[in-house]
Amino acid sequence: MSTADINEKHPLDLDQARVSIKKPETRSDIQGDLTDQERVDTAMRNFVKDFGAVAATYMEACVHCGHCAEACHFYVQTQDPKYTPIWKLEPFKQAYKREAGPFAWFYRALNLKRKVTTRELEAWQELIYDSCTMCGRCSLICPMGIDIATLVGLARHGMFQAGLVPHELWAVAERAEREGSPLGATADVFEDRVEWMGDEHEVEMNIDLDQADVMVTLSSIEIQKYPKSMADLAKVMNHMGLSWTFRTDGYEATNFGMLSGNSAWQRDMSMKIIDAAIKIGAKTVILPECGHAYGALRWQGANVYGKPLPFRVRHISEFLAEAAREGKLKLKKVDKSVTFHDPCQVSRRGGATQAPRDVISALGLEMRETQDHGDYNWCCGGGGGVITIHRADPIRYKAFEIKMRQIDEIEADLMVTSCANCRQNFDDSQQHFQWDRKMESLLELVADNLIEDPA
Ligand code: SF4
Ligand code: SF4
Repeated sequence: MSTADINEKHPLDLDQARVSIKKPETRSDIQGDLTDQERVDTAMRNFVKDFGAVAATYMEACVHCGHCAEACHFYVQTQDPKYTPIWKLEPFKQAYKREAGPFAWFYRALNLKRKVTTRELEAWQELIYDSCTMCGRCSLICPMGIDIATLVGLARHGMFQAGLVPHELWAVAERAEREGSPLGATADVFEDRVEWMGDEHEVEMNIDLDQADVMVTLSSIEIQKYPKSMADLAKVMNHMGLSWTFRTDGYEATNFGMLSGNSAWQRDMSMKIIDAAIKIGAKTVILPECGHAYGALRWQGANVYGKPLPFRVRHISEFLAEAAREGKLKLKKVDKSVTFHDPCQVSRRGGATQAPRDVISALGLEMRETQDHGDYNWCCGGGGGVITIHRADPIRYKAFEIKMRQIDEIEADLMVTSCANCRQNFDDSQQHFQWDRKMESLLELVADNLIEDPA
C-alpha cells in the first residue's frame, strides 16, 4: 500500500494513519496443497469472477471519507486502522484494478498495481474472516452506498477457493456439507431430540409428514444447545391449529457454506430445504432464530434455486408478528420491561426490524430500546462465523463490550433476541465477563406465554 493510498483512506487523521497503519498479523490457516503461486492465481481468478457491474461500481465509488470505520465495532473498540471496513477489501480491490477495472491494462503494463502475494492474502485472512461479521453497519453508514458486507462475502469466495479459510470455520462448513449439520445434529440426532423434547414438554411433535402447509426448520445451535426451541415451535404451531411438520431431509437452516465462502456448499445446504419444502407442498417455510439462515434463504434462496421460490419464507419473528396481528396468537400479558438485541442479518440486513417489536408489544411488555437499536444496532461481534474462530476470541469480546455498556444503561428486566448464534455469543461473553445478565429467546417468551385454551 502506498502512502498516497493511506492518505486517501484516512483523511481524518493522516498523521496517525501514516505511522500506525500496519499489515494484519501473519498468523493464518491454509487448506490443501496448492503452491503459493497457485493460491494467488486461484484467489485472484475467483475475486475477478465475482466482479459484476455492482461490485465494480462499488470499487470505483469510494471517496475515502473514513465514515465506515466509525460504524464498525471492531474498529471502534480497537482504534486500529487495519479494521477500517474498506481496508479489509484491499486485495479484492487490487484484483479489480489490475485484472478487471477499465484501466486494468494500464495498471498491468506499468505495474502500477503489483500482484498480491500469498503472504498478503494469508495476512488478510484475519480481516476478511476474524474481524468481519458481515453485519452491514458500515454498508448502512457509507455515504456512497457501498455494500462492504456483501463485498466481504464475495471476497470470501476467492479465499475459500485458494484454501485460505480459518481452520475452525472451514471444518464446521465441511462437516455441514458431509453430515448435514455443522455441529453434529445429523438427521438421526435431530429425530431423537425432537422425540425427547416432545416427551419432556408434553407437546405433540410432527415430523416427516408427507404433506403440510408449513415446514419448520431449525438451527444446529438450537438443536444442540437450546433444544427447547423445538418444543416451543411445536407449541406455537399446534396453538394456531396449523398443518405443519419438521422434516429430517430439510431441517438444518444454518448455512456455513455461505459463511465460509463456498458457493457450491451454500447451494447444497439451501437446496435441501427447498427440495423438502417442494416435496411436501409447503406454502410457507419458517426459518428459525438464526440470523444468517434468514439471509441465505429469504434473500439468496431464489438465486440458488434459479427462479422464484414456490413458497413463502418467513423468519420466526415475522411469522409470530403476523400471527399476533391477525389474532391467531392468544398471549398472556407479561408485566416486565425488555430490551431487544436485533440480529444484524434479520433487522439491518433482512428488513424485519419491526417484527420482533410487534411481538413484544403483543406480549404487553414495556420496550426499552438501547441507544443504538433497530437498523443501527451494534452487532454482538459473533456473527459471520466469527464465533467459531478461536483466535478471534479477544477481538470478539472487545466488540461485545459495546453491547454490555448499552444494555446496562437502560436497565430492562429482560433482554431478548431472535438469533441463536447471537444468544450463544451473549451466553459465552456473559461467562467471560461474569456479566449478571441472561439473553433470552423471543420464541421461548411467546411459547411460555400462550393461553393454552383460547376458547
Ligand atoms: S464510508 Fe464508504 S466512501 Fe467512505 S471510506 Fe468507507 S467505503 Fe469509502
Ligand atoms: S460488515 Fe460489520 S464487521 Fe464487517 S466491516 Fe462492516 S461494520 Fe465491520
